[in-house]
Amino acid sequence: PKPLVGVSACIIGQPVRFDGGHKRSHFVDDQLSQWVQLKPLCPEVGAGMTVPRPTVRLRKIGESVRIMDDKNNVDYSDAMHAFNERALPGLASLSGYVVCAKSPSCGMERVKVVQEDGKGAERNGRGLFTDALMKRYPLLPVEEDGRLNDPHLRENFVVRVLIYQELQQLM
Ligand code: SF4
Repeated sequence: PKPLVGVSACIIGQPVRFDGGHKRSHFVDDQLSQWVQLKPLCPEVGAGMTVPRPTVRLRKIGESVRIMDDKNNVDYSDAMHAFNERALPGLASLSGYVVCAKSPSCGMERVKVVQEDGKGAERNGRGLFTDALMKRYPLLPVEEDGRLNDPHLRENFVVRVLIYQELQQLM
């Protein structure tokens, strides 16, 4: 069977972004989709946010990193953690995941984190959904959409997905 690969819904063209748009990836939607079965998910919609919605970003508060709509001072962290608790157990059959870069929910690396005083920001965060996904399934191959524009990373990802699927079948 084709490996089942999770994907941020907006990168296969679903209009779920904050502005009602998408971030369709030609590679994922047109090419990768021929070799794997894609399972789309939008964690922000899953956590109860509307389309369209105010933008959210990561913000450091004390020792924790929160996901917040700073303009309206709404904290979605609890809703996002609750969504992760609900959704992650059902993703055990995935053999890989392609996430949308830079997103405070889906980004894998270098996501902007606003500092507690609201003045500075560092690019050292990970989206709260992807963070929980990678902690729960530490061996799962995960990549960002933009990185898959690199042919070497593309090939590497597909090979890792196939190996992971083999391992799943042995277990
Ligand atoms: Fe795309 Fe993820 Fe943002 Fe949803 S939460 S719009 S899937 S980047």
